Amino acid sequence: MSFLYRSTRNKNEAVTASQAILMGLAEQGGLFVPDEIPVMDLPLEELTKKDYRGIAYEVLSRMLTDYTEEELWYCINGAYDSKFDDERIAPLVSHHGTHFLELFHGKTIAFKDMALSILPYLMTTAAKKNNSDQEIVILTATSGDTGKAALAGFADVPGTRIAVFYPKSGVSPIQEKQMVTERGKNTFVAGITGNFDDAQTGVKKMFSDPELGAYLAENGFRFSSANSINIGRLVPQMVYYYYAYAQLVQSGEIKVGDKINIVVPTGNFGNILAAYYASLMGLPVNKFICASNDNKVLYDFFTTGVYDRNREFILTSSPSMDILISSNLERLIYRIAGNDAEKNAVLMKELSETGKYTITDDMKKALEQFYGNYADMDTVDATIRKIYEEDGYIIDTHTAVAAAVYDMYKTETGDTTPTVIASTASPYKFTRSVMTAIDPAYDSKEDFELVDKLEELSGVKVPQAIEDIRSAPVLHKTVCEKEEMESVVKGFLGI
Ligand SMILES: *Cc1c(COP(=O)(O)O)cnc(C)c1O
Repeated sequence: MSFLYRSTRNKNEAVTASQAILMGLAEQGGLFVPDEIPVMDLPLEELTKKDYRGIAYEVLSRMLTDYTEEELWYCINGAYDSKFDDERIAPLVSHHGTHFLELFHGKTIAFKDMALSILPYLMTTAAKKNNSDQEIVILTATSGDTGKAALAGFADVPGTRIAVFYPKSGVSPIQEKQMVTERGKNTFVAGITGNFDDAQTGVKKMFSDPELGAYLAENGFRFSSANSINIGRLVPQMVYYYYAYAQLVQSGEIKVGDKINIVVPTGNFGNILAAYYASLMGLPVNKFICASNDNKVLYDFFTTGVYDRNREFILTSSPSMDILISSNLERLIYRIAGNDAEKNAVLMKELSETGKYTITDDMKKALEQFYGNYADMDTVDATIRKIYEEDGYIIDTHTAVAAAVYDMYKTETGDTTPTVIASTASPYKFTRSVMTAIDPAYDSKEDFELVDKLEELSGVKVPQAIEDIRSAPVLHKTVCEKEEMESVVKGFLGI
């Protein structure tokens, strides 16, 4: 069986998993989606006894059907090793009956490491399988965390180069420092004078420009993507939802077969879509709770059925979720439209031309498992402070958006289903926002003084990722307008 991936905008464009990973994006701006999500045929009793790597193999082998067993193990063992500072890779920790799935134990201390540790392996393996000898140029737009995780994953990987664009004034000081100090010889980082949506639109434009593609090919290059528009990001993200479930079973919190809720602080809709895909594969889920910050396009969408990006872009204390065009929502729209590429393409055209679209009542009905809400910055601060005061546990601003929305959900519904909150970043990545949430007086201190203070309050050792940038020199100084992105990339490639 070789299960095909199809474009969300053209039903005739079908490729294998490895080709979808290598290409990143389909033609005409479409995204690759699996024809059908295969049902996990290994019983949950068996699956939940496995460790992270074991579960990763089971999930990946069902979704990436043209990779051999040997290839998958090579990728999994290369990715999920001692570069994670916890041997469980994604530990589940419980506070006051709530379960936080800590997804930030990788190299760059945000959940993007979960997929970006394995993507370079999947991609270079895909290039070999498809006899591609072109050098792969990874083009990445980042709202702060993907950039560094992708740089760390692809740095000095033979046969690849990577260019990252981030919003110059839209990331945290630590996020920026992590990126501009990257040492990999095949890396390039630029700030743009715009927001994340501008960066993402600029990158998508380069991808879907056939002339630019041909010019690259003449020079021995091809573009691919490390953003969650690449299916090679989403599939590895399905794994940790199964693993969270396994940990709940192993600790006796639930029995095999019980349903759980999953709360995800959401931006580009990749992480929560991976949870949804895991449930289509057979993971027992009651509700998907989609948590937004003040950029609450998704909350409005789930409550009204209208997606409308025509609004002010708000810079918040959870910058990795400051997004108005959630790319991966397209994959959900395609599915609830009955896997209908034509219907989806019409809506996406409306989105690009008018900035909005409305789904039908039937489509809206298919979204009953989703609950959306949002938390403003004051609520986020209060949530960080409350959890710290009750438990001594310190969460980052993104995780706090999720925890706050989960509180709203419980109050509204009274639902007591065991719940997993995706904890997407270490508080050390957003030290200033986190510390001033605990006490505004910390705002007068220097960034690294705050780091040391956070260690004192939380009792969690300063991660290596932070130690690494304390005194690292800035190596990337490019700042450009969004219109200049293409020429900057050509400059980097020397073409
Ligand atoms: C990227 C990111 C998110 C949003 O995830 P999406 O998959 O884009 O919805 C949330 N929190 C953090 C810390 C992130 O880095």
